[in-house]
Amino acid sequence: MIKVKAFQIWKRPSRYTAVLFLGVAAVAVSALVWMGVQLVKQDRALEEKRLEEQREATADRLVVALEKVLSEEERKLADSPTVNLNPEAEDFLLLIIDSAEVRVWPDNSLLYYPVIPPGREASSPQFAEAEKAEFQDQEYGRAINALRPFSRAKDPATRIGAQLRLARNLRKAGRFSEALEIYGELAKSSDHEVSVSGVPVDLVARRARCLLLEKLESREQLQQEAQSLWNDLIGRHWQLDRASYFYYSEEVAQWLGEVPKFDNGQQALAEAVLWLWQNQLPIGNVEQDSSGRRSSSINGTSVIMLWRVSNNRLAAVVAGPDYQQSQWFDPLFESPSFSGVRVGLSNPDGTLVYGNEPRDGIPASTRLASATGLPWDINLADANLEADMSLFNQRRRLMMMGLGMLALLVIAASYFIGRAISRELAAARLQSDFVSAVSHEFRTPLTSMRQFTEMLVEDESLPVDKRRAYHQVQERSTRRLSRLVESLLDFGRMEAGARPYRSESLNMGHLVRSVVEEFKQETESNNLIIDCSTPDEGPEVNGDREALTQALWNLLDNAVKYSGDRPNIHVEVEAENQVAIRVRDQGLGITPSERRRILRKFVRGSSAKACDVKGTGIGLAMVQHIVDAHGGRVLIDSEPGKGSTFTIQLPKGRRVNDKDSDR
Ligand code: ADP
Repeated sequence: MIKVKAFQIWKRPSRYTAVLFLGVAAVAVSALVWMGVQLVKQDRALEEKRLEEQREATADRLVVALEKVLSEEERKLADSPTVNLNPEAEDFLLLIIDSAEVRVWPDNSLLYYPVIPPGREASSPQFAEAEKAEFQDQEYGRAINALRPFSRAKDPATRIGAQLRLARNLRKAGRFSEALEIYGELAKSSDHEVSVSGVPVDLVARRARCLLLEKLESREQLQQEAQSLWNDLIGRHWQLDRASYFYYSEEVAQWLGEVPKFDNGQQALAEAVLWLWQNQLPIGNVEQDSSGRRSSSINGTSVIMLWRVSNNRLAAVVAGPDYQQSQWFDPLFESPSFSGVRVGLSNPDGTLVYGNEPRDGIPASTRLASATGLPWDINLADANLEADMSLFNQRRRLMMMGLGMLALLVIAASYFIGRAISRELAAARLQSDFVSAVSHEFRTPLTSMRQFTEMLVEDESLPVDKRRAYHQVQERSTRRLSRLVESLLDFGRMEAGARPYRSESLNMGHLVRSVVEEFKQETESNNLIIDCSTPDEGPEVNGDREALTQALWNLLDNAVKYSGDRPNIHVEVEAENQVAIRVRDQGLGITPSERRRILRKFVRGSSAKACDVKGTGIGLAMVQHIVDAHGGRVLIDSEPGKGSTFTIQLPKGRRVNDKDSDR
């Protein structure tokens, strides 16, 4: 049962087969697309994994390279530092600190110092009398006289101390120009051994001159001297402690009418040294050696400190951003081993020291300072992820193209296979219809022959005229059968290309008239009207008499079969450029969509089936075949419900083509 049903579905009209194949193709294409997407996803994951491994390896190499750079720098901290400094580096210094002093290379490279080594104070007990006169009695003249002899003393501390006090008393006594002169002399002093409360004498004297010039409102000179004082202060001319440095600088900036602008980089270096002094200096006798690294942002400037403590003293390298960049980072990151990476080094507090901030959504490898022992956190990403993924993108494009082509191939193959199968099925259906139609065609004359033969055999007393009539029916049935067999055999030969055509000159008027006559006699229908208009003579056509007779007969047979209740048939022969044989009826007509199809073998029209007109579907196919062999055309003109006109167009006097006649 199921088998029968499946067979029926399989034999359904071709539309279903097409839908079935489209469904199969859709499933196959969907499977292909799904597979493609999965493949692309997998490939992408693999590519990302490969890049990640590459990045991790680069990050490890970077840690090693940076470690090497710092170790190289730390070698300068050996017990007796090899001071081989780069003169171009402004923000680099090497220092050795012990509890008493700070030694720095290059010289004068610090803006201010954590501690100033004690020098000789510009003072002397011999000034007691002058100081009493100045501070207790406020007799400045007496004080001046008391100090004068000491101002020429040999001992620098006494001489300078006396000169300073002399100038002060002269100022207090209102003898400003004399005071200015003495301060001027002291300002030229280059004796840094003698100081006033740790501040070099020349700085004290120059400040005192400026104060005096301010008091005297000598603006121009004040500007000039204050400016040169400022230049020397920021030019690190003196070794000063932090408090003195800021005190003097701010006062001088006020004279200049400016907000003091300190060099951030230099200040950061000085602050770093201060930090080392405050935090890392060994207190007491520390046996154990230690070392450290620290990178921090001071006043917005990244400073790195590398230090080592041994034998109760601290040796350190302090470097600012320019040095780090030019000496360490640029050479490292410009080397081919780190090209193509986007690196960011930052202090543990998060401030960026070098490179770029990490970008959101871009995969990166990180190495934390706490894990590597380096002073920075490292963030490493691909500089151009798109370019690195280009290989994958290329592969993806190729894969998608391949899959697309495969999908197209599947669709095309399904379409063609579906079409071929549906055609085969349609042909099989037509053939099976044909077999049943032929059986039916045979059955009708055979049945009447058997009936009349039985009647003749059973009743011998039948009158002669009845017997003749019965014999005539038998003869017609026989002829019909033989015509049917002939036409089937003919059709078979035509299909096999083995139908021989014998060419002769035919008078189409005669031929058509005789065929119509014969047809009329054969059909013997009372209400059938066939009128025939042909020229008396001609036109001449070279052709196969039997074949053309067969073609015309088929058209007439159809005209009768599909005439319905209006069996008026008109046959005419016309000769202009070509010879036209027309058979016109007023019957069922043919729909435009069927007009070309009905000329194919086994194809039967819908109206024929609807009106239950029996037929085999080979009549018109034979007509087409014969007319083709004569180099002519079959034309159909029809209006459903009103009738049809079939025209055979043949060339005048043409010979049947040699090929066909050979057959
Ligand atoms: P058959 O007549 O045996 O079916 P044919 O090849 O002679 O086969 O004709 C094919 C189909 O063409 C017919 O089934 C019919 O539908 C249509 N046809 C042929 N001649 C006519 C006609 N004169 N009027 C209407 N339909 C016709």
